Amino acid sequence: MGIGLINAHFRLVHGRGLDPCRNITSSHFKTSAQWEPLLQSNSTIFFALRQTCGKARNQPFIKTHPTQVHIYCQVFSLHISLLNDKIIIWRFLTQSPAMSQNSPVIVVSNTDAYAGAFKALTQADIPSMSGKNVLLKPNAGRAVDPLTGITTNPEVVAAAIDFFQRQRASVRIGESPIMGVTAAETFEATGIAQIARKRHVELVDLDARPAKIVPVPNGRVLSKLRICPDVLEADFLVSIPVMKTHMHTAVSLALKNMKGCLRLKEKVRLHQIDRPADLPPELKTLDAAIADLASVLLPDFSLIDGSIGLEGLGPSAGSAKRLNLFVGACDCLAADAVAAHLMGFDPAKIPHLALAAQTTSSSIDLAEITTIPADLSPLVNPFDPAPTELSLEYPSIIVHDCDSCSACLSTVAMLLKRYHSQLLDYASPDRKLHIALGKSLSDVPPGCVLIGNCTATKKAQGLFIKGCPPVPSEILQAIKNAGKKHRP
Ligand code: SF4
Repeated sequence: MGIGLINAHFRLVHGRGLDPCRNITSSHFKTSAQWEPLLQSNSTIFFALRQTCGKARNQPFIKTHPTQVHIYCQVFSLHISLLNDKIIIWRFLTQSPAMSQNSPVIVVSNTDAYAGAFKALTQADIPSMSGKNVLLKPNAGRAVDPLTGITTNPEVVAAAIDFFQRQRASVRIGESPIMGVTAAETFEATGIAQIARKRHVELVDLDARPAKIVPVPNGRVLSKLRICPDVLEADFLVSIPVMKTHMHTAVSLALKNMKGCLRLKEKVRLHQIDRPADLPPELKTLDAAIADLASVLLPDFSLIDGSIGLEGLGPSAGSAKRLNLFVGACDCLAADAVAAHLMGFDPAKIPHLALAAQTTSSSIDLAEITTIPADLSPLVNPFDPAPTELSLEYPSIIVHDCDSCSACLSTVAMLLKRYHSQLLDYASPDRKLHIALGKSLSDVPPGCVLIGNCTATKKAQGLFIKGCPPVPSEILQAIKNAGKKHRP
């Protein structure tokens, strides 16, 4: 396989800081460091270091002594990780660092979602995609109706398909949804399956293949991640989230949408990491985990769907908010910063964005980001923020949440939104209904409603409702079956 990398610029993804690497030439690979391409495609290249002598010659993974590996890394100013003492995989993007960092963030206002999204794509600095393998990653993580603001508007996904297909790219759409639903179910429910079928685009269940374990060098809370292989194999990854508020992370945009590239329960694990002693108290482990994810996996392009966003009890129990805005950019963090600003939030106060900006070469400072149009002020349309505690939103209900994941938290938010008045009939004599969720509950009041499998260890102390997560109507029914009304 030809290497063909002479004088190419690379951006190191598996390494702290996304720093541009020095020019690397094919001769370096052949004669100095003996790096060989394990898999080469037009814009994404994986390398493995091979043993070049002895019996192991041409084996795909190395058995080189770690000291030697570290010498190679020093020569090339690379970060490196050994996994199981022998596997090393690096991912480089052929995209020039200058391209993503200096290209503008496009903001389009249009009441027609397809036209607005298509315009954002055509105005952006997207390189030629002819012959490339493009993976679209919308937010299709839940089986909900289209146009609720919870999942990406299918018309925006349609615009992205048409844009890349016209460039003769091979387009696929992938998702690893929340626990309890399959990608096939969410694609159908969200309307994305219909637009994909019409355009003969493959829908990829990202959970169908075993995960690739990717090291996270210098991670704050993670040392490795289980990433869906289709994501890593794509030449060009496009994150297409919907603009939402989020009870755990304040906003959910292009970077947060990358969580749907983690296989099955790996997404849940990000909510359940033990808190390191040195993490500042104002930060959640989840914020640090998302920033760690950003240090190894960023989309090549972000197309943020603000046709209909979601405010308040996001990510799934909030209220739809029509904005008719579309944000497109090669720099994911810049796109998220601009989208957060349009939603009325200060990007510097969104912890996962601020942390990711520290560990990548991107900026979330609007003064350093070029936007088209330059003046965004007429487009800013503030969202109601997500409450940090459900108990504040519903004072008669006390919610004990200790390290739940978004699926259970959303279920409880939905339960309260839909059935709040009915639930009050089953409150304790103190007129409060106690609900608990999450894997780290220490103590719960007697009679507490325990939501989800993570609370099973406390089942003797209350009403346990199994599921991962259970659905709101089942929870209501279980409470009704078990409870006796305290109201006269
Ligand atoms: S039971 Fe709930 S909190 Fe636990 S993993 Fe399942 S969805 Fe997440």
